[in-house]
Amino acid sequence: MDAKAPVRDAAPTESRPGHWAVVGGGMLGLTLALRLTQNGQRVTVLEAAPSLGGLASAWQVEDVVWDRYYHVIMLSDARLRALLSELELEDEIRWSVTKTNFFTGTSMYPLNNSFDYIRLPVLSLVDKARLGATIVFGSRIENGRPLEKVSAESWLSRWSGRSAYRNLWRPLLRSKLGSNHGKASAAYIWSVIRRFYAARRGGLKTEMFGYVPGGYRRILAALADRLRDSGVTLETGRPVASVVASGKGFQVTAGDETRHFDRVINTCASPIAMRICEGLKPAERKQHHSILYQGIVCASLLLNRPLGGAYLTYITDETIPFTTVIEMSSLIERSEIGGRHLLYLPKYLPVDDPLLDADDAEIEAAFLPALQRLFPDLTRDAIKAFKVTRTRHVLAVSTLNYSDNLPPMATSIPGLYIVNSAQIVNASLSVDESVNLANEAVASIMTRDPVFISRPGQ
Ligand SMILES: Cc1cc2nc3c(=O)[nH]c(=O)nc-3n(C[C@H](O)[C@H](O)[C@H](O)COP(=O)(O)OP(=O)(O)OC[C@H]3O[C@@H](n4cnc5c(N)ncnc54)[C@H](O)[C@@H]3O)c2cc1C
Repeated sequence: MDAKAPVRDAAPTESRPGHWAVVGGGMLGLTLALRLTQNGQRVTVLEAAPSLGGLASAWQVEDVVWDRYYHVIMLSDARLRALLSELELEDEIRWSVTKTNFFTGTSMYPLNNSFDYIRLPVLSLVDKARLGATIVFGSRIENGRPLEKVSAESWLSRWSGRSAYRNLWRPLLRSKLGSNHGKASAAYIWSVIRRFYAARRGGLKTEMFGYVPGGYRRILAALADRLRDSGVTLETGRPVASVVASGKGFQVTAGDETRHFDRVINTCASPIAMRICEGLKPAERKQHHSILYQGIVCASLLLNRPLGGAYLTYITDETIPFTTVIEMSSLIERSEIGGRHLLYLPKYLPVDDPLLDADDAEIEAAFLPALQRLFPDLTRDAIKAFKVTRTRHVLAVSTLNYSDNLPPMATSIPGLYIVNSAQIVNASLSVDESVNLANEAVASIMTRDPVFISRPGQ
């Protein structure tokens, strides 16, 4: 459609459901599409990338196809598991108890049980007792909102002590938030403690990690099939350039095509949403621009040998250029990845960090010597592939008074919604939270949007 053509009034009527454009085909956009279609709406998903899934999408490293970023399902991921159940995949989840290591800069320590914890040399016994008490105390706090008023640093220093903060909490905060770690509120660390303690609160002694055979590629394929069967149109390779209010709907431009939709939900990160959505008020643009985002570079490595057998190796040495080692092949059946060993080396960074623009060779040159510091018996010829993926706006940092400054999902333009992962408040970024956000967003929109309200029986 010509962008300058007269605008056809495509306002929804009782006989015709609204036609929704969902911008972004990640897990959030796809779940929103599912819930909208389950509520009788017509939906088209417009995804910029050649395939669906966003952060959860798969990619190919040599002959191995697996998740671009490492993903596990937790026992406590009730909303995600309910979605998998709808897709008839929940029964297939393979659960394992995984191992965790801790690298202090000079040595590697196992960290799998209380005994390991007591032996950990980076903390004194008093520090350990205070740290344990902080975790138990944190896991029992039901409402994280008051913690948004306090910085993570002062809350953790107060409860665990300065030395435990310096030697353990600070490196762990840095591992996710990089140089933004000082800006995080205590609600962030509370959400991490809650996520890892959720299964235990439910009566289980230990958390287990799981995956669906075939990884997220399989989950996404099942979700896409379900959406197509329900009449949802899925368009990939469609980067949306603009969304402009027009009559009672919107002109959505992707590539050289402009189409009319009754309603639009934009699921992209706020800086991208602000580039796309025109006509918003300066105050709400300011709110979106004030959200502090983190970026990530993450290398996938294929090895011809196992590394250490731990799914997670936490690193407290700040001179190591990546923040964790994830040995995915210690969790998944190796037949899933052609008998290879798959490793991820992530590094979270501020959005303007030059590493986000570095090429794979530069990152490999920085990461491999450091990996060999952690695993001195790892030779270069054991590393068969090294490939880097990067995302500039990967997660919003839970800054002080985060909820107070968060823009609402409904924008000032009726029918235009911005629903993105920044609205996951006081919880860590996970697919479980993305699914929950989609469920709640559609439930909330249903009670307010005239498209739903005007329909009989809704
Ligand atoms: C390193 C890492 C590890 C993780 N591990 C786990 C884990 O173990 N377990 C877990 O549950 N969760 C994990 N997560 C979190 C999980 O990946 C996210 O919660 C989820 O994928 C977010 O989905 P989303 O749709 O909100 O965002 P995204 O996946 O980012 O989707 C946004 C989509 O919008 C598209 N887009 C951008 N611009 C445009 C445009 N102009 N037009 C159209 N489309 C556009 C993008 O291409 C993208 O597909 C992890 C995330 C990362 C980064």
